Amino acid sequence: MKHLIYPVFLPMLGCPHRCIYCDQNKISGVDSLDMEKELAGANRFVANHPHTPKEIAFYGGSFTALSPEKRQELTDKFKAVIDPCTSFRISTHPLYINMAILAECKAQNIRCIELGIQDFCTEVLLASGRPYNTATAIKAVKLVIDSGFTLGIQLMPGLPASNLDTITQNKHILEKLKPAYLRIYPLIVIRGTPLEQQYLQGDYTPLSMEEAIGICADYADFAAQTGIRLIKTGLPSNLKPGDVVAGPYHPAFGEFVMAELLIRQITNLASKNQEIILDKKQRTLILSHKGRFVDILKKRLENCLISQEVLNYLFGR
Ligand code: SF4
Repeated sequence: MKHLIYPVFLPMLGCPHRCIYCDQNKISGVDSLDMEKELAGANRFVANHPHTPKEIAFYGGSFTALSPEKRQELTDKFKAVIDPCTSFRISTHPLYINMAILAECKAQNIRCIELGIQDFCTEVLLASGRPYNTATAIKAVKLVIDSGFTLGIQLMPGLPASNLDTITQNKHILEKLKPAYLRIYPLIVIRGTPLEQQYLQGDYTPLSMEEAIGICADYADFAAQTGIRLIKTGLPSNLKPGDVVAGPYHPAFGEFVMAELLIRQITNLASKNQEIILDKKQRTLILSHKGRFVDILKKRLENCLISQEVLNYLFGR
């Protein structure tokens, strides 16, 4: 069943940090919280889905780093427009998780917590201006899970000092922690951030689009094998093109990852000489984006013994 969520963006509210890559205003496309507008939107959302489990999600900030008064004010205001089938979801920072905060979250009807871990490796975190380490990140995750919340983890491949080894370490840790779901946001360079300076000085090289797609597709395979849901790849598409300086950003990035997974599936079947059947949606996916994936698929199939008939089937319009 599709999960019903009404997102409310709290751009950088509560965040006392400045990670070298971050500008939540630009990422969310929201400069500040318009409370009246959001309450009206949440009210409509709740009225449109009566008797259905659903969530109001506070994204884009570090909810538990807000002052207790602000947290109370936010949940009180939204409680006035929700029904008994609605709970809250928050995204927050691993440094602002402890037993007292989690007890408060429970009392406020928060059921799901997304932790912006970004990377579990200490050297990557420190190189990215995130002042915690592997142990702190793992401790926060365990506290959330053990307290009975649904836990989501956000990761950011491509951070400074990250590499294939650190990605493998992340997967080992995830395998043990078993969060309910993952969001993978490959790092991009946003105008006005310290990372832009590093990039312009030649001290930081972003992932290429192909690398980022490959890493996310690997995470999708990993998630399928470990029973963790991968619910999103790529940053939200609200960024203005002028704010993206470099890196693997595309509004349809998630679709690119799906196409890569399909290409892997087709190549695997072809290499085993097994039948390839594509439905309409899969064919559209392969043929979309000006033939980008057709070219990739053709190249991957070069080493497979594949008949002209099958090639016509795959690439014919
Ligand atoms: S990524 Fe999160 S913790 Fe870092 S500066 Fe942005 S809002 Fe704050």
